Amino acid sequence: MLAVNSSNRPVLVKGLPVSGGIVFGRALIIDDFIRRVVRRTIKADEVKSEVARFEAAAKSAIADIARVHEQAERDMGKEAAKIFTFHIGMLKDPILLAQIRTQIETEQVTAEYAATHVLGKLADQFRQHRDPVFATKVNDIDDLTDRLMALLVVGSTSRMKGLTTDAETIIVARDLTPSQTASFDRTKIIGFATDLGGMTSHTAIIAKALEIPAVVGCQTLLSKVQDGDLLVLDGDKGVVILHPDQATIQNYGRALEQRTALHVALTDQRDLASVTTDNVPVQLLGNIELPEEVARVLNSGGSGIGLYRTEYLYLTGDEEPNEGVHYRAYKRCVQLCAGRELVIRTMDLGADKYTQAQAEIPERNPFLGCRSIRYCLKNQGMFKKQLRAILRASADGTVKLMFPLISSIAELRQAKFIVNDVMEELDEEGLPYDRGIKIGMMVEVPSAAIQAETFARECDFFSIGTNDLVQYTLAVDRINERVANLYSPLHPAVIRLIRDVARAARRNKIPVSNCGEASGDLEFAMLLIGLDVTTLSVSASNIPQLKRFIRQLSKVDCDKVARDTLKLDSDVQVAAFLRDRARKLAPASFTDAGGDS
Ligand code: PEP
Ligand code: MG
Repeated sequence: MLAVNSSNRPVLVKGLPVSGGIVFGRALIIDDFIRRVVRRTIKADEVKSEVARFEAAAKSAIADIARVHEQAERDMGKEAAKIFTFHIGMLKDPILLAQIRTQIETEQVTAEYAATHVLGKLADQFRQHRDPVFATKVNDIDDLTDRLMALLVVGSTSRMKGLTTDAETIIVARDLTPSQTASFDRTKIIGFATDLGGMTSHTAIIAKALEIPAVVGCQTLLSKVQDGDLLVLDGDKGVVILHPDQATIQNYGRALEQRTALHVALTDQRDLASVTTDNVPVQLLGNIELPEEVARVLNSGGSGIGLYRTEYLYLTGDEEPNEGVHYRAYKRCVQLCAGRELVIRTMDLGADKYTQAQAEIPERNPFLGCRSIRYCLKNQGMFKKQLRAILRASADGTVKLMFPLISSIAELRQAKFIVNDVMEELDEEGLPYDRGIKIGMMVEVPSAAIQAETFARECDFFSIGTNDLVQYTLAVDRINERVANLYSPLHPAVIRLIRDVARAARRNKIPVSNCGEASGDLEFAMLLIGLDVTTLSVSASNIPQLKRFIRQLSKVDCDKVARDTLKLDSDVQVAAFLRDRARKLAPASFTDAGGDS
């Protein structure tokens, strides 16, 4: 048991519960570590080596960027790759370099301090410029500063690498990118809490996928916590307790035991059919980000993969994956699925899944920008590489192909046209693929939901993506903790869109599923089933509880719940109504530990 420091009082900080589990550990603050460079002076005899250290870092940065530039030119063309010429130009600029060197020499400060100081001043000058072209360069300078700092200081990544195995570390950060989260060493990092972030941010999704208990949107945690502080993190309720006393630790110890007991009880559900009491099957599939998760989905009782977020192939490696990397990942999933359904979504890069550091031109509204299918249609070389790999993998299993963020029929047609092109290429090369491969689309933009009838005539299946559908319907950023209270899948407008999409699917005889995070919520799942969305794709960790719940419900009751819900005016009313109905219709799902909150 971790030692309690009785001189500190417990402090409870509330956030959003994004990935379940209770952990006890010591805080490690990684956020802004690179940027928080303190002014540290050095001895006169260290100046020379400090200048040399800076010059070596600049040289390595140039070499790194040159590699990225070369790759970008190959994949995106000369124009898009130009941005890297600007980066290299800056790092070779004699005036800028001289300023940094002079500061190290005259003020006897570290290379880190001199570089951040000089580049920071330059960014400020650009920021004040009226011309927006200059303003966008601020991101480039920030990017360069990060790159240099990563080379100079013991950066946050290596800081994590230095952890010892018994550290039981809980990361505390202002924010984390999905790729940072995906690269956590699970033997050392047992949970994380961030001040920023929303319920369906991709950082939250990856935490769930990796089963790392996490709380986001804490807003003030970072200002209260110090490295090494003892923390209890409750990912089920969305709270972090700083300096817990003995009583708190004991209470949480008991909660943890109950949680484990429930988990064991739920494993019994694994091999049972996912079917309502009146014999309507509800297909339970899993959402995955990495091939390794397939086994977890199947072991949890899922009957296949309803959403493979392939963009993580780009987010977890340093280089753009080539066709071979794509193919191996898909083939692995096909093998692990062993004949079960596998829906591979083409890359959904952009917004929060393409860091501004990687984006060639920073966008002002990335969620409304060149993301997802739009990005693919503009970068067809990259897109075709992925499509070739998906099609090739389809030769050996039940693969379905799905496009994200379709917002107009022209996009769907263009994407399908490119698939046909790729098929012809494969034919010419004599490479096998499934000629009857089903091609579907995500319905996650209101325009697609409103025009669902039109889309249903031109694709083989729908998968509703409530994570984005909610943000675009309600104009609420899904990763912004400040508007998290407005982000609600229970909003009547969202529910009506889902109803209409399900209707269009039914009329056109195509399957429809929901793969947003909300389908993992028992009450929302009950509503979806009533709306005739009877395929739910969820995180592996949601499957056991969901299956038990479904087996206690009747479809007829769910239908009535849906009809009555559609008469309500606000998300608050819907929430209260569903809460009440779910507890009346399937009380057993809410009576034991972990079932209720
Ligand atoms: C969604 O938007 O609901 C979805 C499943 O896609 P993602 O969360 O990857 O944007
Ligand atoms: Mg989406």
